[in-house]
Amino acid sequence: MEPLMPRVWSRVFRRLQRASLLLRWSHAGCAEHVTVPASSHRGHVRPAALVSRLYQPSNLRDVGQDSRLQAEMTCKSQRLMQQAGLIHPSSPGCYFYLPVTVRSMEKLVRLIDQEMQGIGGQKLDMPSLCSAELWKTSERWDLMGKELLRLKDRHGLDYCLGPTHEEAVTTLVAHQATLSYRQLPLLLYQITRKFRDEPKPKFGLLRGREFYMKDMYSFDVSEEAAHQTYESVCQAYHRLFTRLGLRCVQVQADTGNIGGKLSHEFQLPAEIGEDRLLVCGNCSFSANVETISSDTTHCPQCSTGTLVESKGIEVGHTFYLGKKYSSIFNATFSNAQNKSSIAEMGCFGLGVTRILAAAIEVLSTEEGIHWPGLIAPYQVCVVPPKKGSKVDEAALQAEQLVHTLGETLPHLRGEVVLDDRTQMTIGKRLKDASRLGYPYVIVVGQGALEETPRYEVICQQTGETVFLSKDGLLGLLEKVETI
Ligand SMILES: [Zn+2]
Repeated sequence: MEPLMPRVWSRVFRRLQRASLLLRWSHAGCAEHVTVPASSHRGHVRPAALVSRLYQPSNLRDVGQDSRLQAEMTCKSQRLMQQAGLIHPSSPGCYFYLPVTVRSMEKLVRLIDQEMQGIGGQKLDMPSLCSAELWKTSERWDLMGKELLRLKDRHGLDYCLGPTHEEAVTTLVAHQATLSYRQLPLLLYQITRKFRDEPKPKFGLLRGREFYMKDMYSFDVSEEAAHQTYESVCQAYHRLFTRLGLRCVQVQADTGNIGGKLSHEFQLPAEIGEDRLLVCGNCSFSANVETISSDTTHCPQCSTGTLVESKGIEVGHTFYLGKKYSSIFNATFSNAQNKSSIAEMGCFGLGVTRILAAAIEVLSTEEGIHWPGLIAPYQVCVVPPKKGSKVDEAALQAEQLVHTLGETLPHLRGEVVLDDRTQMTIGKRLKDASRLGYPYVIVVGQGALEETPRYEVICQQTGETVFLSKDGLLGLLEKVETI
């Protein structure tokens, strides 16, 4: 049997043990737990995030003057995300996702989990390192061409870094000899890093070589059942985009190298989009131009409507696969007559990092990011006065306000940041706040010192600035939806 721990690590481990460091560490950990007096547990109330401490390496750096940086920025979302310290380029098509981005990503993942589990999806996690054997069996090893990132292990065996997992999940299900029709539909999904050897990565997170995707695979008893599953996933996708406040068009699409008989793309209409769509002005018909003759101007569905061309960013893709993979890998179940039957399959993708960037692309202005409210990294930014200004003492009110928000509105816990960079003017900090795109910015200034304190609240979505009492403020923020 192979040792679980590589030899080098076990050597290090032994050396540490000899020095009894590990022992001491674990003791120290215990002691701390036991001896910390109850009173100091006040420290467990999480302090507000301080803007001065947020890790945003470019720290709202203005790249406007730097022509080299400017040339690298091929679209609005990339420019905004890089300027605000949300992403940092690594190698072509690969990025560091910085803490603020990860907060937003985690919210998006929670939202996707809710919608996928709401239709019976079960989350799993499959290896990114995929054996070539499976891909050769499905004949996609050659079909995928140069897009597939390939590598060899030390034994000379071929692998690829998975861009999609039809082969893997179908073998997994095929290994379960006892799968019964009673357990179907079976919907398995994962949210993991995917890899694609893009010839020309561009547009930041919109077209990268390494990205996050949600991929779900369905197994059904019949073609009819598979179509019902297909429909329920499409509805879940529409709910998801509605909750994000994004307009999404479902268009007929080509099945490409995934294969199968029926396919749709979910597109966010956007100028920067690389897909060309034809949308009927009269009925619900819409299609990717790849799927219909490009000189068609009349709608093939209602025949009276005119097709209008627009551009879109593909954020989701659904495929009805039939038995394409299940027959190759023998993914069977026992049917009601207790006979072995081949499962009907579908597969359903959502570009997680791409949704994030596409949302920023379509919602934002050149001056600042607008997030879908639900997945904004932080909901509220509190701005105290500048140090040394004549309303300097309102700084205390600002801190108290942050505390009150956390105490009174549990759904905003961890969602409030305090812009403690009080050496800067309020105006400068407001500019940064609008670049980063907090849905609500609260300025604690002169008004907070009045007998009935008032706060200046900037609501990003409406663009309005309102002056509210504490109760008014709490009433407003109570309605903020979080996930
Ligand atoms: Zn039509």
